[in-house]
Amino acid sequence: MAGPITVWWSPTCTVQELRRAGAGFLPPQPALPNDFWDQPDNLQAVIDYLREDPHGDQTDLTWKVAEPVTEEVLRAVHDPTYVTATLSNPDAVSVRAALHAVGAAQAATSDVLNQRARASYALVTPAGHHAAYAGRGRPGDVVEFCSGAVAAVTALRCRRVNRVAIIDVDVHHGNGAQDIFWTSPDVLTVSLHGWRNWAPGTGGQDAVGDGDGLGTNINLPLPWGSGGPTYEAAMSEVVAPALDVFRPDLIVVAAGYDGGFTDPSGRMSLCSRDFHSIGQTLRRWADSNDCLGVVLTHEGGYSPSYVPILTAGFINGLGGGPPPTDPFLAHWRPNFAPPMSKEAEDVIDRGRSALALLASR
Ligand SMILES: [Zn+2]
Repeated sequence: MAGPITVWWSPTCTVQELRRAGAGFLPPQPALPNDFWDQPDNLQAVIDYLREDPHGDQTDLTWKVAEPVTEEVLRAVHDPTYVTATLSNPDAVSVRAALHAVGAAQAATSDVLNQRARASYALVTPAGHHAAYAGRGRPGDVVEFCSGAVAAVTALRCRRVNRVAIIDVDVHHGNGAQDIFWTSPDVLTVSLHGWRNWAPGTGGQDAVGDGDGLGTNINLPLPWGSGGPTYEAAMSEVVAPALDVFRPDLIVVAAGYDGGFTDPSGRMSLCSRDFHSIGQTLRRWADSNDCLGVVLTHEGGYSPSYVPILTAGFINGLGGGPPPTDPFLAHWRPNFAPPMSKEAEDVIDRGRSALALLASR
């Protein structure tokens, strides 16, 4: 995947006014510190790290500032009632951030569709992968739109694109895209996540889509503590074969980093090498198939010290560069990287079975 990766960002997503619990990104969480969730400082840490390239091993990035998304696209993805309620939220700062976040996803997609880049990254918040067709079911509660779905719908409007795959590697289930494309034959949704976390009641392996979309949703609810070997197996034995069967013209990645081993939200054991490996697998697939490229939307990740390095890992894997310098590795990998468990093997086996349903369409 030669050439620079474009990164779409917006200063509206890092303004300090967003740094208050319950400001609209998410309501306050009783059991968690106030500054836990989507906070502008977490995103700013990633932007600063990638711009400064402290170790000089970063893939070439071209930075671009995103505009807000058009309302028409939002209404093509979400319930119009949800869109109206969300845009009417009195927290104008959060609404502006959400519109720019989705605008970045739209612009990143256009970059790849127009062959200005083979990979493009919407590096923005809020994360949108929990926003289902009607949001979270309580309009006005959370100011968010599903960026990955906006990317997919934008791509499907291009005559060269017939099919899009959305791969969600956030530690929480990608319930938003699953719900929005539940009956769509044109969008494959695959989610690797920790079992029985957010969103409640979703993410099981019996959720396979319906109607014309039967077989186009694959969930891999992995046991807590899963690390590199499990994710590698999931990518090589389920995700890449699913791409072989579905043959998407574009890959969208919901790039969440809360599976990192230092993350206060997830309980997985991933390090920068693992995200590098995931990026590498997707790059190789795109390069050896007739695929326009890869669009990433930035999702969760709540460890401000480690998410920047994990993001660099993903980007370098995607761009064909080496894994980034990672000072955490010396203390982590030799002692704690867990092998694949029997439970994880079972999940991956069931994932392999789902390929047959996908192929029978
Ligand atoms: Zn998450």
